[in-house]
Amino acid sequence: MKVAFFDSKPYDVSSFEKALQDKELTVKFYETKLNSDTAGLAKGAECVCAFVNDTLDKETVEKLTDFGIKLIALRCAGYNNVDLDACKGKITVVRVPAYSPYSVAEHAIAMLMTSIRRIHKAYIRTKDFNFSLNGLTGFDLHGKTVGVVGTGKIGKCFIDICKGFGMNVLCYDKFPVTDEGLNYVSLDEIWEKSDVISFHCPLTEETHHMINESIIEKLKKGVVIINTSRGAIIDAEALLEGIKTRKIGAACLDVYEEESDLFFRDVSGHILEDDTLALLISMPNVILTSHQAFLTEEALEAIANTTVNNIVTFFKEGKCENEVCLQ
Ligand code: NAD
Repeated sequence: MKVAFFDSKPYDVSSFEKALQDKELTVKFYETKLNSDTAGLAKGAECVCAFVNDTLDKETVEKLTDFGIKLIALRCAGYNNVDLDACKGKITVVRVPAYSPYSVAEHAIAMLMTSIRRIHKAYIRTKDFNFSLNGLTGFDLHGKTVGVVGTGKIGKCFIDICKGFGMNVLCYDKFPVTDEGLNYVSLDEIWEKSDVISFHCPLTEETHHMINESIIEKLKKGVVIINTSRGAIIDAEALLEGIKTRKIGAACLDVYEEESDLFFRDVSGHILEDDTLALLISMPNVILTSHQAFLTEEALEAIANTTVNNIVTFFKEGKCENEVCLQ
């Protein structure tokens, strides 16, 4: 069984090489991202392994089908980059529904703490023997209200940590769970009452630009926005405007709407053409990491093991419990 592995990074290769031991799979690692131009590299394979910024649109899926690809094995939880309609009846899509929800939830908290306690500023100052505290005043999380949008695996871990801080947790989910003692409220209540808002829902038509100009008007002045979900949940230009008008107190972003050509790469020697991103990065109250929240040893090991298992199971049994269903 041959697998064409796209957008591979050194940390993928080492975790997958371990997971592939004793498995009858031949994996060819390609650094390039998968899209309609690069799909040809998959010729001769039965499966492609793809990640969050690979483009599995109609054109790519049709090419993969023509080359005889039977399975798209996503090594991530989200599948917003796959045209599932185009795959229907032709090609099966599997994903890794859970690896380490702690990795993402803890990263969200790391960004929040860094931001509100100005650790990013303090780190640079003390490296330069500047021991002044001026401008580093933060605020306690204890007693503050956090709004959590999406109470799935990651959202629940994030909520547990917030409760540990003594925060008042408000939740919103399109499909609330009733037996977990979570305090579900309307989205409007989240917008109006939260000092911190964190997104842990998938990117869908409904959640696209959930944070936009009109919603920003409803937010509490000084609110901290955390997005470790998908970039397009936030309209980045509206966010920038909200920061400029001082309505938004801080933004902690692990994802960005236009990240696909930038994130996971070193473009430090290039001119950044995305003015919105450049301005966001230049703001003292914006912390940006490049889709790093999943990157722990535990998560990488779980991703590799589940992906390999998904591929082996699908080709052995013709089905797999981690199949992404169009419904
Ligand atoms: P999950 O499926 O366990 O939870 C998602 C929750 O969102 C569910 O409870 C679902 O009911 C809810 N939801 C669906 N539509 C909604 C809507 N319109 N409004 C509010 N809530 C809605 O997923 P998870 O494992 O907790 O992951 C959440 C998201 O985190 C993923 O979709 C992915 O985009 C993102 N993610 C990011 C990283 C990273 O490295 N930054 C890593 C993994 C996952």
